Amino acid sequence: MKERVLTGDRITGKLHLGHYVGSLKNRVELQQRYESFIMLADVQALTTHFDQPQLIKDNLRKVALDYLAVGIDPDQSTLFVQSMIPEIAELTVYFSMFVTVNSLRHNPTIKTEAKERGYKEMYYGFLGYPVSQSADIAFCKATLIPVGEDQIPHIEQTRKIVRRFNDLYAPVLVEPRALVGERLEGLDGNSKMSKSMGNAIYLDSSPGEVEEKIKKAKTDPSRIHKHDPGHPDICPIYGYHCAFRPESKQDIYEQCSRGRIGCADCKKLATGAMNELLEPIRERRRQYEGQPKRIDELLVSGTDKARAIAKETMLEVREAMSIRYF
Ligand code: ATP
Ligand code: MG
Repeated sequence: MKERVLTGDRITGKLHLGHYVGSLKNRVELQQRYESFIMLADVQALTTHFDQPQLIKDNLRKVALDYLAVGIDPDQSTLFVQSMIPEIAELTVYFSMFVTVNSLRHNPTIKTEAKERGYKEMYYGFLGYPVSQSADIAFCKATLIPVGEDQIPHIEQTRKIVRRFNDLYAPVLVEPRALVGERLEGLDGNSKMSKSMGNAIYLDSSPGEVEEKIKKAKTDPSRIHKHDPGHPDICPIYGYHCAFRPESKQDIYEQCSRGRIGCADCKKLATGAMNELLEPIRERRRQYEGQPKRIDELLVSGTDKARAIAKETMLEVREAMSIRYF
């Protein structure tokens, strides 16, 4: 039997190049060798967007289309909707009995995200989303989780939860490991590219949109004139060269550090590489865009498949926890 991969995305907005570099690229590469599950995380989206349910609904099909456009093959990968697997919510409740509030409060990603969102106090669902994420992974006994680096603490938390469950009750769950992709900086140069921060280049961008966004992107602020020596390490554009033109990153690093290439030329090269990557994605998007019914059918059948697995796992979980009375 093939090992399982599980990942997902909060459907708070369309997917961007950060998702591609951090996770989608790995998912596409892994889907032949592993049994792959990809979750449209609508419940996890609610942890920060509970007051915008319509936005979440509007993004469901957009994100599904993004998956298909980047090359997720529906014959190889199972797409499913998180809220339609109520067993995940049930497993989350069981896990929450033995996860301490302190371990969640000290989770570095929770801390960063709470700060970025300006939360003075944390909502219960937001603080607990790593527990829910552990249930997402555990219900299908996934072993490999392709994620961006911000997710490392959550995968660690999942491993701990699985170990604790197996020690407390019976060894029915499986410990996953993370496959960590690169991190892509946002256009503002202050934080990772993210849907919520308005600093992203979306996968459905036209060539002109990519060009415009890159033109306005932040670069090394100490570089005033074209021949001033630059500091590529703090420039998001250099990060884009590393991600999309890795063969030339050394060369760009030296040219920028020595003031031999201006920011405008450097940006043009990065734009070209991004558009080259996006071109086949645009082509596949055009093909699927004309088939909205097919996308719905894929989501329904994928969710059915995931649900059947969740039901099986929950029989084992309840048995292990002696939650079967009649
Ligand atoms: P939000 O702002 O709503 O949290 P997001 O853009 O951070 O959205 P998520 O849905 O939280 O996206 O993340 C989905 C996956 O993509 C995770 O595995 C995450 O690590 C990865 N990811 C997101 N942004 C980046 C990035 N800039 N670089 C690398 N990986 C990323
Ligand atoms: Mg996020």
